Amino acid sequence: MLTTLFTHPICLEHDTGLGHPECSDRLRAVLAALEAEDFHLLERAEAPLATTEQIARVHPLAHIERVMAAVPEDGHAGVDADTVLSPLSGQAALRAAGAVCAAVDSVASGRSRNAFCAVRPPGHHAERAKAMGFCLFNNVAVGALHARAVHGLQRVAVMDFDVHHGNGTQDIFQDDPDLLYCSTHQSPLYPGTGDPGEKGEYGNCVNAPLPAMAGSPEFRHAMAHIVLPAIDHFKPDLIMISAGFDAHSRDPLASLHLMDDDFAWATRKLGDLARTHCGARVVSVLEGGYNLRALASACAAHVRELMAA
Ligand SMILES: [Zn+2]
Repeated sequence: MLTTLFTHPICLEHDTGLGHPECSDRLRAVLAALEAEDFHLLERAEAPLATTEQIARVHPLAHIERVMAAVPEDGHAGVDADTVLSPLSGQAALRAAGAVCAAVDSVASGRSRNAFCAVRPPGHHAERAKAMGFCLFNNVAVGALHARAVHGLQRVAVMDFDVHHGNGTQDIFQDDPDLLYCSTHQSPLYPGTGDPGEKGEYGNCVNAPLPAMAGSPEFRHAMAHIVLPAIDHFKPDLIMISAGFDAHSRDPLASLHLMDDDFAWATRKLGDLARTHCGARVVSVLEGGYNLRALASACAAHVRELMAA
């Protein structure tokens, strides 16, 4: 069984404006890195549009309508100072969420062993009823609820190693005992959530904040002693990864010091748990990462491990 890459060219057309860190070149850098010889066995698939039904498992219809209504006919429009839309942003957001649903379908049916969704806009800051932090729809949450509704994969664990806390995913998961949200993130940092005391209604949110300047030892310690045991104990039917690469040492938006090998290590450990609990099923979704070279090399290290899982 293969690792499948889900993406769509329209994700490059989500234009956030000059100088915005969440730019098309990010996805170009990732896709270029995945053209290397190492990835010739990576299966490539076109992301479909998510349906309203798929997105509405997570977001109220009013939120979906609000996002789509905010898409400008030309130029740019912002739902907040950071979260900017251009004419094709709505289509890109639907492909991003659709990629994750298709990845879940592929992994659940056994067509792929695991999958990586190279998409933008990212998703983990999008709360149930609020777009924010470059995110419109919560792609990973849409995939998680799709896995349950369509494939009966009841228990879904998300590990989010983006340097920012995934306040949106936590907001969506926190009152559902069959959804586990785990995060390592820099604190204090945007969006300000992710205190270890935020445990969710059923102890199903696990937050492991790291101080600025923390690096590989602190990250691996938090993974080994907090995150991985929580996922092991949860016994998921599917593991999903909110794969942001902005905890990389070279990232300009934050101050953690992870290296490519740390992302590879975390991917390997999550793959081991997936093999133990859920037939190796892993769906990984691109979130942040703002130094283009670091993003490309760390993401390549991540996908290389998925292919080796
Ligand atoms: Zn981030």
